Amino acid sequence: MKIRTRFAPSPTGYMHIGNLRTALYEYLIAKADAEGKFILRIEDTDQKRYVEGATEIIYKTLKRVGMNWDEGPDIGGDFGPYVQSERKTLYAEYAHKLVELGGAHYCFCSKEEADEEKDEEQNIKFEDPCKKLSLEDAKRRVAAGEPYVIRQTINKQGKSKYHDEVYGDIEIDYDELDEGVLLKSDGFPTYNFANVVDDHLMEITHVVRGNEYISSTPKYNLIYESFGWTPPHYVHVPPVMKDAQHKLSKRNGDASFQDLVAKGYLPEAIINYIALLGWNPGNDEEIFSLDELKKIFSVERLNRSPAIFDIVKLTWMNGQYIRKLSEAEFLDYARPYIEGSLKRKVDIQDLCRVLQPRLETFGDIPNQIDFLDEVPNYDNELYVNKKMKTDEAMSKTALELSLSRLETVSDWSNDNLFAELKALAEENGMKNGQIMYPVRIALSGKAATPGGATEIAVLIGKAETLQRIKTAIEKLS
Ligand code: GLU
Repeated sequence: MKIRTRFAPSPTGYMHIGNLRTALYEYLIAKADAEGKFILRIEDTDQKRYVEGATEIIYKTLKRVGMNWDEGPDIGGDFGPYVQSERKTLYAEYAHKLVELGGAHYCFCSKEEADEEKDEEQNIKFEDPCKKLSLEDAKRRVAAGEPYVIRQTINKQGKSKYHDEVYGDIEIDYDELDEGVLLKSDGFPTYNFANVVDDHLMEITHVVRGNEYISSTPKYNLIYESFGWTPPHYVHVPPVMKDAQHKLSKRNGDASFQDLVAKGYLPEAIINYIALLGWNPGNDEEIFSLDELKKIFSVERLNRSPAIFDIVKLTWMNGQYIRKLSEAEFLDYARPYIEGSLKRKVDIQDLCRVLQPRLETFGDIPNQIDFLDEVPNYDNELYVNKKMKTDEAMSKTALELSLSRLETVSDWSNDNLFAELKALAEENGMKNGQIMYPVRIALSGKAATPGGATEIAVLIGKAETLQRIKTAIEKLS
């Protein structure tokens, strides 16, 4: 059997992290097989929800993370079209066929009656009077132009059973299944019908989707059965949660891939992180590229328990990926964040060298470098530091010493400045930190900065350095 999986997003205009994780698992299942195929299918039958440009976002996201599809709307394939709205006549054909096979029936009920069925609170089961019509009568009414929908027919008693690769053997009473609409009066299929027809015609072997579909899968299996088709392997995955009670939702900004990228998360880090939301490698390793995941992923290690999206963990992981970037790559990512927030002209390469070792997301850059433009208001308390053995009075002395020394320095490189201040400390019987720490505070006004005193001095230049130290001395007087 050749593995064929599909990612079947609805074009909603953004890529939910949970959907991207589904796509990732589909991709990895397909790519575990040298000949496996990963298919992209756009599920746009809900025309009310159509969002302009949404398909492009899906393409862009998958390409950006390196999950290239083997068949899809843009590249075609042997099982097209790959956009559901272009398959409309096909669904109608199969829906009528299903009626002939006894798996569905024509329903002429008014909308109100049909809507009652959805009244879950009162648990009213819609008893469709049209089921009593003979097929001949029903067909006559269809031919006469009466509006109708095609509904699934569920006459079975007892329990439906199927196997899920993650949740094991599932049993659901046929009684609990509703006879939902398969083909709407406008001729469009519902998801409940289109997914079955497409998965069969596209020869999909493994369906990965959220566990909210566990309870409707018996309905799909009945459709497969009526047509005499073989159902795919089912791989239901637990939802991605914001916390123990709430699903990660669109309103919470972290739910979408684009939002995370805009905040300065690297696509590679996002993919690595979401792979672990519902799957584990069976050991303590955590950092995996997509290529590594392809080699080690297995369905057996998917978990059933809901996964909580831990932004702190993702942020940590993002830092690991930032550290692995080359200088040039880092600069490319960082440039817009630097140029978009900093007014002072600084050597961007020097700045990046200072930022890269500690940065966790690119979105932190503006906050981390704001002091380069201007020293913020700060309290002289900042000069008191037990570890560095400094207080306000000692800091004032240190700054005065540093000022007269730095005024004489012409080689304004980090190495030289560091050597000068180190020598200055030694000459005065002070510890390095007793010079470096006050200078860093004077230059930045912040307890924590990317880079130390001399690195900051290089970035802002000699004149500004001397000026800032003078201002700090006055502030301490
Ligand atoms: N279009 C459905 C969704 O976005 C796909 C579900 C499935 O994979 O079958 O939820």
